Amino acid sequence: MKKLYFKSFIHLYHAHPFSRSINQAIHKLQKQHPNLLSLYEIGRSVQGIPILALYLGSGPIKLLIHGTHHAREAITTILILDQIQYLIGLYQRKACIQDTPICALLKQVTFVFVPLVNPDGADLVLNGETIISPKYKNCPYLQKQLFPSWKANIRGVDLNENYPTKYPAPNLAHSPSSQLYPGIHPFSEPETFALKCLTEKKLFAGTISYHSSGEEIYWYYNQENTQRDLIIAKQIAQLTNYKLIPKKIPTTGSGYKDWFIETYQQPSLTIEVAPYVGPKKVPRKFYSSIFYKNKDVPIVFAKSICSP
Ligand SMILES: [Zn+2]
Repeated sequence: MKKLYFKSFIHLYHAHPFSRSINQAIHKLQKQHPNLLSLYEIGRSVQGIPILALYLGSGPIKLLIHGTHHAREAITTILILDQIQYLIGLYQRKACIQDTPICALLKQVTFVFVPLVNPDGADLVLNGETIISPKYKNCPYLQKQLFPSWKANIRGVDLNENYPTKYPAPNLAHSPSSQLYPGIHPFSEPETFALKCLTEKKLFAGTISYHSSGEEIYWYYNQENTQRDLIIAKQIAQLTNYKLIPKKIPTTGSGYKDWFIETYQQPSLTIEVAPYVGPKKVPRKFYSSIFYKNKDVPIVFAKSICSP
């Protein structure tokens, strides 16, 4: 990794339990920068792990960046924490990125970061069955051989199929599973309900959902205003070198981005950060490249929303 002005959180990728170490790191980061960062608990996971949000900036334009809806994609949690440290470093050094002074940007926007949406799922992938609470220990869908490829939460609900949309994906699972089970109804899970409440309260001008596989950017969900959103997506594609997924009518799915675009008609991206590695967690060796491709994404996204 090239010289950074901070210590990356990538070492936490191997922590046990992962979610507790991440939440401790989030608390510590906020305590180190009390004038810059505010910390909120926006909800708790099925197994009672706090889902934390960090706010950075004081501007009226609010932007949401969240990671690890999918259990095996926890490298995006590390990425978001490092993005926060990177932004703080730029602010403290009064730096400019692409002609944007970060101090001024943080007066225009407030970033709301939710690094770990699915703590129970991430723990299952990274730490195995020891993290399963007694209540769920004997659930038949929790099969050990599936843990390395797990995407859902601990109840076997795929959180990124648990939002209400007009065009749910076809071929979804009908019972709790490692992936693609949408749950008994939209927002049935505390993790998605937490994001719903946060989103309704903050009325974000734009959002980014970090996922991990395929180096692609999804930006379309049957919205009318395609020009604005395509311009923003192209800027992020240019910055990251990720491929833009072409518009397909209708686009199906019930993920956060789909729900947000359909409900709020504001720009929302799903960014898949790593090369396709198959149904497993992203190996650590990809992290340095992921960070450098994405470190400026919040800044460029904010800039493109503030001055389209
Ligand atoms: Zn995903």
